[in-house]
Amino acid sequence: MEAHWGEESVISTQSAASECCAPRPDRQRAEAFFSYTRSICPTCRDVIDAHIVFRDGRVLMQKKCPKHGAFETEVSSDAQYYVESLGYTKPGTLPLRFDTRVAHGCPLDCGLCEDHLQHTCSPILEINDVCDLTCPVCIVRNQQGYSMSLESFQHAVDKLIEAEGELPILLLSGGEPTLHPRFFEFCDYVLRGPHAGKVRRLLISSHGRKIANNPRFAERFKQSGAYLSLQLDSLRPGVYDKLRGVELLDMKLQCLDKVKELDIPTVLVPTISKGDNCAELGALIELGLGLDQVSSIVFQPMAHTGDGGDGFHTNPAGHRLTMPEVHQLIEEQTGWLRREHFHPVPCSHPSCYTATYLFRLRDGRYVPLPEFVDVRQYLDAMTNQAILRTDDKLERMLLDAITELWSATKVGEDSQLVLHSLKDFLKQTFNSRNPLTPVEIERRTELQSKAIFIHSFMDPFDLDVARLKKCCTHYVMPDGRLMPGCSYNNLYRQSDPRFFPKAQARTPAPVLISESEILDA
Ligand code: SF4
Ligand code: SF4
Repeated sequence: MEAHWGEESVISTQSAASECCAPRPDRQRAEAFFSYTRSICPTCRDVIDAHIVFRDGRVLMQKKCPKHGAFETEVSSDAQYYVESLGYTKPGTLPLRFDTRVAHGCPLDCGLCEDHLQHTCSPILEINDVCDLTCPVCIVRNQQGYSMSLESFQHAVDKLIEAEGELPILLLSGGEPTLHPRFFEFCDYVLRGPHAGKVRRLLISSHGRKIANNPRFAERFKQSGAYLSLQLDSLRPGVYDKLRGVELLDMKLQCLDKVKELDIPTVLVPTISKGDNCAELGALIELGLGLDQVSSIVFQPMAHTGDGGDGFHTNPAGHRLTMPEVHQLIEEQTGWLRREHFHPVPCSHPSCYTATYLFRLRDGRYVPLPEFVDVRQYLDAMTNQAILRTDDKLERMLLDAITELWSATKVGEDSQLVLHSLKDFLKQTFNSRNPLTPVEIERRTELQSKAIFIHSFMDPFDLDVARLKKCCTHYVMPDGRLMPGCSYNNLYRQSDPRFFPKAQARTPAPVLISESEILDA
C-alpha cells in the first residue's frame, strides 16, 4: 500500500495510518494546508481533528483516527471556487432559545447549543419511520414502526414556534409521512391550529405513491394546503431500480399528472448519484420549468450515511459529487444556466447550499436573476432564509434592476423583454393602490419565478464542524430541541430511542439547559 494519502476518498487501514507518518524521500508535502477543523471517524464515529488541504486544484479533508487509521475525502473539486465561496459568509440570526450548554465541544453538544451560529430556516419533523420502500440510497431509513402521536406532534410544533416565532418552511418527513394514520390532522394543526399563519409553507417529503394511486387522498392533500416535496430522481427507466430498489418511473409520472390536474404546489427533490442519474440534471430542470405547480428544484448529491446510504457504496471514493461539479453538470446539460449563476445561500455554510433564482419573461422563458440584478442585493434578499423573501427588499432590488436596464443593455437583446416583464410583475405584485397580502404576493412571486437549490448533505467521511455550526436545516426532536441535520444523521440518529429502542444513549450526553434557566435568561 502507498505510504502517502491516496488520490480519491480513500479509507486507509491502521497500517496505512502509521505508514503515512513516514517522510517521503523528497521531504515535500504533496498538499498545501488550508484550515483546521473537527470531524468524525467514519468507522467508530469518535470526534477527531481534521485538516482541509489543497492538492492539484482540489480540496481534501484529511483525518486520522487513533483506532481506525487515516481517511481522506474530496470535499471540493475546485479549490478556487471553494475559497471564493467562503467570502459569501454572513452573520447568522440568533434563535429565540438555546437548549444545550457548551460542554463537550462541537458536535457533541447538539442542540442547539449556545455556540450554534444560525437559527433554523428549514426545520424537519419526522412523524414516522414507516415506509413501503427500502431505498438503497435512503439517508435516514429506520423502519422500526415509530409513529408520532398527535400530542407529541403538537408539543414539538409548539416548541418550534416558541424557538423561532415564525417559520418560512416546515418539512414533515419520515419514513413516508403520508402513511401516518393522522397525517391530515398534523397538517391541520400546523396550518389551521393555534399557530395558523406562523408557518408559511408546510412541505411533505414523499415518494408520491399515495398521490399517484389514491385519488381521494390526492384531493385531500390538495385541500390541506400543504406543498408536496416529491422525490424525483430520474425520468428514465432503470434508474429507480438501482437508487430506490424498485422501478418507480410510471408511478412518478402518474404523480406528476395528479400534481398538474389538482394544481398541487410542488418542490422536486432529486437525489443525484454519480454514474447513475447525474446526466439528468438538465432534463429535470426542464421538467420543473415546464410545470406551473413546481416552485423549486432541490438537487441533493448522494450522501453516504443512514441505514441505506451507508451501504450504497462501501467506499464513497470516486462517487462523491461536490458542489462545483454539480454546477458544471448543470451548465453542460442546460446550455443556458451557467455555473456563475449559482451562489452560496448565506443562511448556511457556503459548502452546504447554493442556489439560483429564475425569473419568467412574458414569452414564458426563464432567465437567471443574477443576469440582471446586483448580486450583493440579491444575496441580501436571501440572507438567513432559504427562500426568496417577498418584501420591500425584493421590490427595491427589482426596481434597481429596471433602472439599470433603462440605462444600459445588461442582458443583450433580451433587455427590453426583461424590462417589460419586470414592470408587469411589479405592477401586479407591489401595487400601493391595491395592496396584496403577503401570502398573495408570495404566490404571485412563485408563479413568476423558480428556484434551483443544491443541498449537499454530509456523511461521516466529509463531516466538518465548521459547516455544522452554521447549519440552518434542523431536525425537530419530540421535546422541541433542534438538531443540526448532518450532526443528527451522522452522530445522534443511531441512539435516538424513537428509531433504535435498544441503542445505548450517546455518551457524553449533551447538557440540557433547564426550562427555568431559559425563562430566567
Ligand atoms: S452543531 Fe451547533 S448545536 Fe451542535 S454542538 Fe455544534 S454548535 Fe452546538
Ligand atoms: S443539514 Fe448538513 S448540509 Fe444541510 S445546512 Fe445543515 S450541515 Fe449543511
